[in-house]
Amino acid sequence: MHVRDLPLPDPVLDHYESQGIERLYPPQAEAVESGITDGGRLVAAIPTASGKTLIAELAMLTADGPGLYICPLRALAREKYETFSALPGVSVGISTGDYDSPAEELAEHDIVVATSEKVDSAIRNGADWVADLACVVVDEVHLLGAEGRGPTLEVTLANLQRRAPGVQIVALSATVDNPEDIADWLDADLVKTTWRPVDLRTGVYADGLVEFNDGTELRVDVGAVAGAGDGTGGDVPASEDDETEATVALVADAVHNAGGQCLAFVRSRREAENLAERLAREELGDADTVAADLRAVDDTGTGRRLADCVESGVAFHHAGLRSTHRAVVETAFRNRDLKVICATPTLAAGVNVPARRVVVRDQERYTGSAMEPLPVLEVQQMCGRAGRPHLDPYGEAVLVGDERSKDELEERYVDADPEAVESKLRDRTALRTHVLSIVATGFADSRETVLDTLEATFYAHGTPVAELADIVEAVIAELAEMGMLTDHGGSESGTGGGDGDPELAATVLGAQVSKQYVAPESGARIVDGLRTAVDMDPANVTGLTVLQFLADTPDMQDTYLGNRERAAMYQYARDHNAEFTVGMHEAETFERWLETVKTARILYEWTEGESMETIVETYRIGPGDLESRVERAEWLLGAAEALATLLDLDVPELARIRSRL
Ligand code: ADP
Repeated sequence: MHVRDLPLPDPVLDHYESQGIERLYPPQAEAVESGITDGGRLVAAIPTASGKTLIAELAMLTADGPGLYICPLRALAREKYETFSALPGVSVGISTGDYDSPAEELAEHDIVVATSEKVDSAIRNGADWVADLACVVVDEVHLLGAEGRGPTLEVTLANLQRRAPGVQIVALSATVDNPEDIADWLDADLVKTTWRPVDLRTGVYADGLVEFNDGTELRVDVGAVAGAGDGTGGDVPASEDDETEATVALVADAVHNAGGQCLAFVRSRREAENLAERLAREELGDADTVAADLRAVDDTGTGRRLADCVESGVAFHHAGLRSTHRAVVETAFRNRDLKVICATPTLAAGVNVPARRVVVRDQERYTGSAMEPLPVLEVQQMCGRAGRPHLDPYGEAVLVGDERSKDELEERYVDADPEAVESKLRDRTALRTHVLSIVATGFADSRETVLDTLEATFYAHGTPVAELADIVEAVIAELAEMGMLTDHGGSESGTGGGDGDPELAATVLGAQVSKQYVAPESGARIVDGLRTAVDMDPANVTGLTVLQFLADTPDMQDTYLGNRERAAMYQYARDHNAEFTVGMHEAETFERWLETVKTARILYEWTEGESMETIVETYRIGPGDLESRVERAEWLLGAAEALATLLDLDVPELARIRSRL
């Protein structure tokens, strides 16, 4: 199908042609045939780089009203915002939390790009523009299966359909095992294909040889270390160094012999940095300008190490990096200024960074208690990054193994299908949050109507009604116990309360907690913290007081406390014990409490003007970890102020610490 035949204004068609888009890719043509330009709903489960963005644009530009593009990640949202903004005659707004169009203007745009959290929050706060939407595109819909953001996404989609009945929904997914279920849930057509604009071959490396699934082979000269795996079979356990040296050889080969760029995936931040430093010695390239850009951001040890590697054309990328550092690395790789990125798996779910070759050195990850194999979906998403459109004849993905693991890796990751997407809304913390918001926004005022609303979620789609009713019953009891809901019904009576009271209603506290977009448990803890602080000797109520009870909510990330710092942190906690609303002897679990003290201390020193360099060195956290904690603290402080005003709890330290943050 020719682009010229699409029902779009000429300037848009010209724009596509100037981008080299003249004929639709097969999945795009299928999407058009299924009716996306006529308001039809669609789930498109197709590989990376097969043109999902154009499918989204076609739906939004032909819709009979504004379009919303929901993105799981902020970095991705920004990328899409820029892409859509380049469309002639199209006005685009964005709402991600760190990069926002003014709220009152969102209604005026043709397209709004937002994270699911922002859309959820807009719905809770009664934003009008939501009801006017004609088309909603959901990117990376397979993230329905992710803890935390998955439940938000499905509840948001359920609520959107209530606020804007009949809205066109287009959901874009990676290749997963059950796109039919998602399509069925959304009452949408399904386009499912493995077609890719650039072919992909995937193989396992063992003992100097990669055997690809298309029958081709690649010999790799691992050099001196290759002797370690000497082909004697399975009795020589491959050491980590063998795997690293094989990875180095595979990366160097891609850069030198295939004229390409390479992504190497490892299991942890430290491994990503170590591998990058190892690869930097291979003289694969140089990127002095990029290094200078990175150095200009800050003078943290992490930033310096990154810039040093980048001078040799190699970067590392993980969640401990500042978002500006990550963005510089991603852009430089896309512009082909960088040859290699050594990354943790998070990069695979993120922004668009295609490479000639992808090397997956580690296929396991430490999950807190044990090493566990990575999900197939995750590994296949990494592999799917191989093959740069218009540059490579094909992409290559290599899993690094040895003679012993080879067959298993092939079976598990190369030949197998990815996992099915399953709802995570069963999680109690998630359900509490969403049941409260359903009641607080007025979507429901009884058990029956709560269930009606949840009926439209992906969770309900695959769950017997009785099971759902039981869980909802338990969640309602918990919310009532926390003072977030009033319940005049009860499971026994089954009907509404007397005196015209609704069976379920949010309390003023519950309503405010929902609006502030914090978890009910966080709201309850903040209120406890504020109440205790009001009763404390004012001399003891400091910034640390406030930051510690905020750190003790599920909305703040935990901060790892290493063995070596425990003694010093304990001493600090003792010295400041009078300042905490929950003292060291009242803590439920001391270890966790001490971690919250560490988080609070870090944030407190930040407000006292300590530099990022010193904090990340002293507390052995990544600059990105500090950044994200400061951001969450800002949000939680805002919520705490709102709750303090509501309940008339006067804690002057709140405003002071907020302004210093
Ligand atoms: P994804 O499916 O990962 O979202 P994109 O939509 O970003 O992939 O598309 C990947 C690349 O392919 C982009 O550079 C885009 O411009 C290009 N592209 C998309 N559709 C076509 C087409 N029909 N013809 C030529 N290039 C296309």
